[in-house]
Amino acid sequence: MSLRKPIHFTISDTRDIIGIDLGTTNSLVGAVDAGFPILFADSSGSRITPSVVYYPAEGEAREPLVGSAAMRMRAVEPGRTITSVKRLMGRRNVPAEEAAMFPCPLTPAADGLRLQISDATALSPEDVSATILGRLRAIAEEALEKEITRAVITVPAYFNDAQRSATKRAGELAGLTVERILNEPTAAALAYGLDKLGEHSKVAVYDLGGGTFDISILELSDGVFQVLSTAGDTRLGGDDIDRALASYLLKQANVDEQTAAPEIHAKLLDAAIRAKHSLSYANEYTVNVPFLTGSESFECTVTQAQLAALAMPIVDRTRSLCHRAISDSKLELTEIDRVVLVGGSTRMPVVREIAAEIFGQEPDISQNPDEAVALGAVIQGGILSGKTQNVILLDVTPLSLGIETFGGLMNIILPRNTTIPAKAGELFTNAVAGQEAMKIRVLQGEREMAKDNWELGQFEIQFESGPKGHARVGVEFSIDANGILTVLGRDTKTHKDEILQIDHAAVDVNDEAVEAMISESIDYAFDDMNERVWTEAKMKSDELLPAVDNALAQVGDLLTSEDIATVRAAAEAVRAALETHDARQLKEANQNLDTATEHMAALLVEKAMEESLKRKGIL
Ligand code: ADP
Ligand code: MG
Repeated sequence: MSLRKPIHFTISDTRDIIGIDLGTTNSLVGAVDAGFPILFADSSGSRITPSVVYYPAEGEAREPLVGSAAMRMRAVEPGRTITSVKRLMGRRNVPAEEAAMFPCPLTPAADGLRLQISDATALSPEDVSATILGRLRAIAEEALEKEITRAVITVPAYFNDAQRSATKRAGELAGLTVERILNEPTAAALAYGLDKLGEHSKVAVYDLGGGTFDISILELSDGVFQVLSTAGDTRLGGDDIDRALASYLLKQANVDEQTAAPEIHAKLLDAAIRAKHSLSYANEYTVNVPFLTGSESFECTVTQAQLAALAMPIVDRTRSLCHRAISDSKLELTEIDRVVLVGGSTRMPVVREIAAEIFGQEPDISQNPDEAVALGAVIQGGILSGKTQNVILLDVTPLSLGIETFGGLMNIILPRNTTIPAKAGELFTNAVAGQEAMKIRVLQGEREMAKDNWELGQFEIQFESGPKGHARVGVEFSIDANGILTVLGRDTKTHKDEILQIDHAAVDVNDEAVEAMISESIDYAFDDMNERVWTEAKMKSDELLPAVDNALAQVGDLLTSEDIATVRAAAEAVRAALETHDARQLKEANQNLDTATEHMAALLVEKAMEESLKRKGIL
């Protein structure tokens, strides 16, 4: 009988080392709190801090602004608003082209470059980064309600010694001892739990952020990730897609790109970014800019397929870079065990498709791509600060402990035979849109289906309603040396906790009952597995069928009758399989339907691309 291993973090008191993703576009901070890694939100509820600093004029007794507040000043005082400072870290000179991306002159100094904000003010890249780090530190201190002095900070795998030292110095300037400089792809791999893969596993980390693209191939050996190869483009990212969409909108608005006033450019760029973000989830978005040209407002609908067509040539530039990294790693494509997507831009469906195509496998998208690096830094911080667990061998859990998850399945959090005291946590999310609460049923037993295990207690955890996969609820099980189980549920957005305490039941089970449960679980192992596979397959069908119907209704006329027939037949097969209760048949039918619709999706994108090229007069 095999038990499903939960991704768990058995880390003791780890509050004191924070993890930081100091990004070119965005930065995040978090820490392991009560057993699970958490990213902190600022006072406006955002976990993402734009890596932007605004420096008020000399003589103004104001502190620099960081993040969104600084971003807002960019339109007003561009010369005092610094973005993308990470590009300058640890560099002695930059090509003129790159220097032109900065809003103020870059001047050489003995130990590197200076951002010449005014005659009187010249800042080193470390100074600016330190200001961002200081803000992140403050966010963490507010969340944890204590002083923080230690951090793990991530950097791109290709950063050289000078760039790494500069990052470390920036941390020190912000009052932080930098315990470790961690490679971003390694951090991402940690966040995805890939350190639990077998020895010598190979992982590709595809990171498409705001202004940069990085591809890294890693190998896990002796418990650490080795970077086998990296490639990338420091001038390729979501910003390029924003510009492409903005220029498309300009055309739709009949505004001449060359002569348009800067405000018009700025307004449409803003609108483009908003549209792009929405179109990662919605099929259609209506751009609406009141009074774009003085008295006239502008409205225009953009579809996901249209955006995909605009983004395609940009995203396609990642292809040759990936091929180079694979070839440099001396691996065959088929040797890569896992592909993970990192960076906000990989939220776009077209990016996911291209990545899947390049690597010939579906990428793992189980983590928020723009949070993975930070989460990995947090986990590393947790590991570094975890006190060695010199636990006295007291007892073990006689049976597995876990909770019921969607579909009535048992999800084990503390496996049978775990030495106590013990602590483990896992993050869950909402399975359906609009859900506002999650019932946590605490279960004990070895059976695959929740209903066959024993219930020790239950409680509810509330969260803000949102789309599917929006909520982040941490559930932590801890058993103290006395065998008392405490189950804590936390909405990681609001930090609201619910706690359930169960006395001894988790440990004091009479031997006969334990034996009966274990022998039952062996007797029923086969049926149980079938039931689990069936339930998982059924959940997948329940998701697929309405999505396919919806797609057919919207774009059926773009497909040939043969294509439609294939998709319909595959959908019918799924419906038929649902009647049989045959898990294998249903799984196969789901897979066939997946394949059939893949073709439909590809056709859609092609068609949309053609249309867009025609409109531009290229075809
Ligand atoms: P970096 O690592 O470069 O600091 P991020 O990983 O935070 O940057 O990525 C920022 C980019 O992700 C921006 O171009 C932003 O527009 C894009 N992005 C964020 N959310 C979405 C979304 N929902 N859909 C598409 N792109 C997104
Ligand atoms: Mg990044």
